[in-house]
Amino acid sequence: MDVDTVVVGAGPHALTVLARWLYEQPFDVRRVAVVEPAGDWMTTWRAGFARQRIDVLRSPGVHHPAPDDMAFVNAHGNWPTFEAARAAALCSGSVGPLQRPTTAAFWHFCRQLIEQTELNDRLLPTTVVSAVAVRDRYGTSSWEVKLDDGSTISARQVVWAGNTRVRRVPAGVQLGGAVQHSNDVDLAAVGVGERIAVIGGGQTAGQLALRAAQRGAAVTLISRGPRRVADLDVDAGWLMEDHLAPFRATLDPEERRRVVEQVQCGSMTSDLDLELRQSQIARVASAGDVMARTDPDRGPVVGFAGVECEVDRVWAATGSVPDLRVAPTLAGLAASGAPHINGWPVLDDALQWRDGFYVVGALAALTLGPAAGNLGGARAAADILAHRGPKACRTGVSTC
Ligand SMILES: Cc1cc2nc3c(=O)[nH]c(=O)nc-3n(C[C@H](O)[C@H](O)[C@H](O)COP(=O)(O)OP(=O)(O)OC[C@H]3O[C@@H](n4cnc5c(N)ncnc54)[C@H](O)[C@@H]3O)c2cc1C
Repeated sequence: MDVDTVVVGAGPHALTVLARWLYEQPFDVRRVAVVEPAGDWMTTWRAGFARQRIDVLRSPGVHHPAPDDMAFVNAHGNWPTFEAARAAALCSGSVGPLQRPTTAAFWHFCRQLIEQTELNDRLLPTTVVSAVAVRDRYGTSSWEVKLDDGSTISARQVVWAGNTRVRRVPAGVQLGGAVQHSNDVDLAAVGVGERIAVIGGGQTAGQLALRAAQRGAAVTLISRGPRRVADLDVDAGWLMEDHLAPFRATLDPEERRRVVEQVQCGSMTSDLDLELRQSQIARVASAGDVMARTDPDRGPVVGFAGVECEVDRVWAATGSVPDLRVAPTLAGLAASGAPHINGWPVLDDALQWRDGFYVVGALAALTLGPAAGNLGGARAAADILAHRGPKACRTGVSTC
């Protein structure tokens, strides 16, 4: 199969870039192949929201995949307070002064965009396993992209939107049995009266703690260090030049990584913090590391500040870290010399890692800064890639 562009992954970042391309310079969508094992758009996003029962996004209404930043707010302009929205079972499209979308309204909005752009038809339900740069006898370069069904796609350019990550697990936490990473939690399995320790100070930790308590569990939320409350996960300045210009002026990618990691410390929104304070959930700020393991005799135990407690479940809501080394395609490119800092690709200002190979999403943080992984970062990536969409059709490209 020959196409102009292969996009790896069908999450919101891929959708944002493609919708922008179609808006800037309409082209025949058949010139693009989107490879996604789930065979559908935004399945990872939707599964995460469903798992944690998240009913409102954290980001403002102006952050979404459509090219016009006001499109969502114009379509869902009613924005009652959280209290009013909750009382009305959150049927509104957006909530609070940031006009944060409800999960249902956001997905409805994205689904309409997918239909309008006809991007559903471009999905290949498989996984990219390698990408090799090739040059023909006229010196024209392209990519041979191998899929796990054994087929190969030839493309002029590749956009990696695969959100490749590894789970972050604190050294003292041994996962196994009832000690789980938050990605594996099944809230439906929680019973009344169960003792649950949730480790983490971010939105996921707070969200899971609240939902478990609503199911009748006795929950303790343990964070390292003091409580941090912030409505946005990354300060809005990180999408603007006042923060980004000095960041980009830092030429050392290791220093850039340090800046990103410093900024990305977990916090939770004020509405969630308020709900937690109004609940029966015990909140503990541990000065040191938290440990957790399954003791063969006592079952799950959690420890902090020299104290160990027996519980029924421990959830490590400690997030994940982008790391290209766990994707064979990216690891292969790194092995052939594409630069990275401990798993973060060093891209140029155009988000290019190798000639014609672009990376968007959280993995692009060394260029886009700490907001790279969220929807605002997706819009920033789409801005940069705006004019790199499929080229005008040439003879010899079979999809034309
Ligand atoms: C619970 C949760 C809530 C969040 N809420 C918000 C929010 O409210 N606002 C906000 O701005 N951000 C939010 N984020 C952060 C971020 O926007 C999301 O993580 C978002 O899903 C990232 O989008 P993405 O397109 O980069 O990756 P994903 O949504 O993870 O999509 C990547 C896709 O790539 C596919 N893929 C991976 N490798 C391959 C391969 N080799 N071949 C083919 N396909 C591949 C995967 O199957 C996956 O479907 C949230 C994150 C989480 C976890």
